[in-house]
Amino acid sequence: MTEGPLLSVRGLKKHYPIREGIFNRRVGAAKAVDGISFDIAPGETLGLVGESGCGKSTAARSIVRLEEPTAGEVVFNGNGRAGATRNPDGTHPNDVTRFGDAERKAFRRGAQMVFQDPSSSLDPRMTAGEAIGEPLRIHGMDDRRRRRAIVEDLLERVGLSTEEFDRYPHELSGGQRQRVALARALALNPDLLVADEPVSALDVSVQAEILSLIDGLQEEFDLSLLFISHDMSVVRRICDRVAVMYLGEIVEIGPTDDLFADPRHPYTEALLSSVPAPDPRSTVGGIELPGTVPSPADPPDGCRFHTRCHRVIQPDGIDIDQSDWRGLLNFRDRVLAGDVDVGRVRENAVVDEAGDPSADRGANGTAGDAAVRAELRREFDIDGRIGDPGVEAAVEEAIDRLLDGDDEGAAALLSERFTTPCEEATPERTVHAEGHASTCLRHASERTAAPDRTDD
Ligand code: ADP
Ligand code: MG
Repeated sequence: MTEGPLLSVRGLKKHYPIREGIFNRRVGAAKAVDGISFDIAPGETLGLVGESGCGKSTAARSIVRLEEPTAGEVVFNGNGRAGATRNPDGTHPNDVTRFGDAERKAFRRGAQMVFQDPSSSLDPRMTAGEAIGEPLRIHGMDDRRRRRAIVEDLLERVGLSTEEFDRYPHELSGGQRQRVALARALALNPDLLVADEPVSALDVSVQAEILSLIDGLQEEFDLSLLFISHDMSVVRRICDRVAVMYLGEIVEIGPTDDLFADPRHPYTEALLSSVPAPDPRSTVGGIELPGTVPSPADPPDGCRFHTRCHRVIQPDGIDIDQSDWRGLLNFRDRVLAGDVDVGRVRENAVVDEAGDPSADRGANGTAGDAAVRAELRREFDIDGRIGDPGVEAAVEEAIDRLLDGDDEGAAALLSERFTTPCEEATPERTVHAEGHASTCLRHASERTAAPDRTDD
């Protein structure tokens, strides 16, 4: 008999309302998690990676129901609960998001969470022993001696000794505190551990120790693990599969080896290019991931990654150097946002070129138009002539308008002439290989007709 997944997440969303004004009116929503789907098999480790602000912690908290999800389903089949049959109304009897209080308490036994910072997740007034034993007490184990025996056993399993039993968090090192947090999470013998950046707050020297510990415990306790990290090299070490998250969505998911060897989403590529590879020949190398994750309150249209993507698609009729295309779109977006201040560029250009006798000077010693033009093009990495004369002329025309103070005219020209399919179409999921899928418009032509099992 094949076993089903332990955890099945479908279309999970968590939107935080944004309120304003004296009536506290809802004016929008931060779509921190915006429809993610994945499975975790019994005993499997799934990594969830992405830059800070992508929604990883929100996803974790929504799955264990420390937060109320906005939409979606989280089916947990732990503790031998029956799996596949749905209720007549289509809901699932094991949907965590619909659990009442009693079911929720039972669920808490089966799914535990470990946080990044053990100093804030542990009560400073509780000794290590008390902290580890507390879940046992809450879940009805009244026999003190039995509790103590279990706690001592757990202490040993996480590499501490009975000496630490009576220590308070402030008397322990960061690594020891995280060991206590792990022991506490394991006290009720859960099936699933959700670990949110469990080593990110620790000294580099103890990170490896705690990672090995988690790895060992997972095996020993036969745990499924959702392991959250922003560090690709950590994920590579510990995970069977990896899900890459960007701005509330999963953009790529696949078996770890497959995903590292053959990343199919540009965002994954960019994340990987900053990781020193064990085999230097396989490094993607040097892909710039400029800026930060845009606000989830106003995500970019189409593919949410298009504003930072080095592979952003050129439309029919344009075929220029890809880095020029990226620079050109950056220029367009900054002009559209009203962020290109020619006056300021003029002032700065003077400073930059003070030592350059060939610098073009306008009135009062400020930089002349040619210097400003050069500076602008340098800033957006389109300083060479662009290969397509029509495109080159349009860029020059836009800069002319900026120099004339006609910012709106420049914005209109750029937005009319230069658009990418990536902002017009929302990419769908493409399956590349067994269990390896990504969401990028470039793969639209290779998409398989059959909808994937984990699609929502
Ligand atoms: P990550 O763990 O990947 O760094 P988070 O899940 O912490 O990301 O945050 C995702 C986004 O949701 C961020 O833009 C963050 O500002 C926003 N966010 C997180 N928690 C809240 C909250 N309680 N209220 C409003 N916005 C939130
Ligand atoms: Mg986080």
